[in-house]
Amino acid sequence: MQKNHFASDNTSGICPEAWSALERANRGRLPSYGDDDWTDRAADLIRELFEKDCEVFFVFNGTAANSLALASLCQSYHSVLCHELAHVETDECGAPEFFSNGTKILLLQGDEGRILPGAIKHAIERRSDIHYPKPRVVSLTQATELGTVYQPDELREICEVAHGLNLSVHMDGARFANAAASLGLPPKSFTWEAGVDVLCFGGTKNGMAIGEAVIFFRKELAHEFDYRCKQAGQLCSKMRFLASQWVGLLEDGAWLKHARNANRMATRLADAIEPLPGLAIKSKVQANSVFLDMTDAVARGLLDRGWKFYSFIGNAGYRFMCSWATTAEEIDELVSDMKQVLAETDDAGNGR
Ligand SMILES: *Cc1c(COP(=O)(O)O)cnc(C)c1O
Repeated sequence: MQKNHFASDNTSGICPEAWSALERANRGRLPSYGDDDWTDRAADLIRELFEKDCEVFFVFNGTAANSLALASLCQSYHSVLCHELAHVETDECGAPEFFSNGTKILLLQGDEGRILPGAIKHAIERRSDIHYPKPRVVSLTQATELGTVYQPDELREICEVAHGLNLSVHMDGARFANAAASLGLPPKSFTWEAGVDVLCFGGTKNGMAIGEAVIFFRKELAHEFDYRCKQAGQLCSKMRFLASQWVGLLEDGAWLKHARNANRMATRLADAIEPLPGLAIKSKVQANSVFLDMTDAVARGLLDRGWKFYSFIGNAGYRFMCSWATTAEEIDELVSDMKQVLAETDDAGNGR
């Protein structure tokens, strides 16, 4: 069995619902650049899901979704406040700064990947003079880079503070589906109703081949966003193949089913690890990732057995990420190997 799937949720393939929608979209000839029924239907399904008349755009990946969304909210002399571990800061190669022609990213600290309203206030009150890049946006990630989830009231508080300071709120929802599955609430309650202005809704990690949706809940913020996408090379000419995957995921609730599976598998892993001495869970498991502390010897033992996982997210430990495709058998096999490696490293006297 291939054991590399715990590195990220994007190591898994295309889910059956997206695959079959692609097959349906592959029949016949259709208008290009989004002037087709699949694209209309996908945008309508998103508006239904969020119970909101909003502007929807489909792009290829999350870096583009975030960067273009942020660029549309900022002038070059503005700044974006986000958590120090935010993907827009650590994993987008400066794309938000590039596409906004120089908007600066300002970092906030916060436990478990979350930012708090107080940190936003502090960052604003620290400086307000002409020499400081003027804060214009708060960007937060749901579910966070550390696998935690903001509750609706936490979001409401953040958005209230942000709006009170004349800042817009952007949500990086690369794992929005996992947050939705975790919260079990209508998506509107932790997006626009809470005050989120723009959401980047991730399709790729949820089970699509490729594709993210940029959703402007305040429609006026989407002004000329279509030009921004085109200029950035993000306007897909065969748009039906991005859009149809959304239809496949959304029309019968597959997006939530798959996210629930990913979350359940992470919980299964965490529950099995909990009693094991030598492995310590670092961050609350609220979505589809488990962060662990273990000795180098144990990590090496697991790598030697073919398991793949990340170790570079701040000082958060080792990350095991579950996806729509992760099975209980795979979790059990991983746990069994963990137990064996722990026993072996313990025998060698270097397990503690
Ligand atoms: C995966 C991910 C993205 C999107 O990354 P791309 O590789 O550009 O598609 C954005 N934000 C977060 C938090 C992610 O984990």
